[in-house]
Amino acid sequence: MRVSVAIPVYNEAGGIDELIRRVDAALDQLPVDAHEIVIVDDGSEDATRALLIAACERTSRLRVIFLSRNFGHQAALTAALDAAVGDVVAVMDGDLQDPPEVIPSMMQAHLDGADVVYAIRVGRKEALPLRMAYSLFYRLLRSVAHLDIPRDAGDFSLLSRRAVDQFRALPERHRFLRGLRAWVGFTQVGIPVERGARFAGRSKYSLRSLIRLALDGLFSFTTWPIRAAMVLGAVAILLAAGFSIYAVVVRLLVGSVPAGFTALVVVTVFLSGVNLFFLGVVGEYVGRIYDEVKQRPHYVIDRELRGSDTSG
Ligand code: UDP
Ligand code: MG
Repeated sequence: MRVSVAIPVYNEAGGIDELIRRVDAALDQLPVDAHEIVIVDDGSEDATRALLIAACERTSRLRVIFLSRNFGHQAALTAALDAAVGDVVAVMDGDLQDPPEVIPSMMQAHLDGADVVYAIRVGRKEALPLRMAYSLFYRLLRSVAHLDIPRDAGDFSLLSRRAVDQFRALPERHRFLRGLRAWVGFTQVGIPVERGARFAGRSKYSLRSLIRLALDGLFSFTTWPIRAAMVLGAVAILLAAGFSIYAVVVRLLVGSVPAGFTALVVVTVFLSGVNLFFLGVVGEYVGRIYDEVKQRPHYVIDRELRGSDTSG
């Protein structure tokens, strides 16, 4: 059985040599030697490109795919999964937060019958507020999505060929691997893996892009937020109807209408706020539909290099 290790990297010059060395060593632990390391360079601007070209000359099982620009983590991951030819494909980050030494035990779980073996992150090394945000997000995702997305499961995983093929057949643009992987189904097993600190450099996810990813996760697996507007609207209509009956009765019996300029302002502003909010929610879905309709490819490949090529 051939194993591919698929790794997206972006500006990881500080850790790339160590990464390749450790993944290479982990693959040496496995029987049969036709394994490959597929690294997708997501348009790095630092020395990563040069280091990858140099690494190709000494690592025969390395394949490097250079994308034409930075397409983002999930797109680069998709490129790596598309390129991998192995019977099983391990997916991991390129910053050594995911220890490659775990791959043989993931492989064992796969041989025991699992199509998808994913790492459950224990002992995160990020700052406390970020850890709390992560935990909140996974809880939220689990409770709102129509899908049993395992909590604290990251991208680090090992997929069987049929799981990879199913994943690749999903056409959507906004890819959220953790969600889509759960969607694919088959036998899924989680194993606890210590989540290390970055080997070098810093996280490529800004707060903004993390929120983007979180929203992708939420919006690609839900439709109820649109429906929530309907429920809220119905409640508002009922309340308004009740109040107008009350106002008419009071007018007929007492001869005066209930006054309340402040209340009027509050209600008007509140309801416009609710309106705009749900306009935004609907907009999120419409924007996503627009992205789908355009049918742009997920990424563009600049060139590919193999370990055996020394032509550079
Ligand atoms: N990455 C990428 N393209 C990007 C951003 C990140 O290929 O636009 C890679 C990055 O090099 C790393 C992985 O995706 O290998 C995970 O990124 P990072 O470690 O910054 O995310 P975090 O672990 O902080 O969630
Ligand atoms: Mg990381």
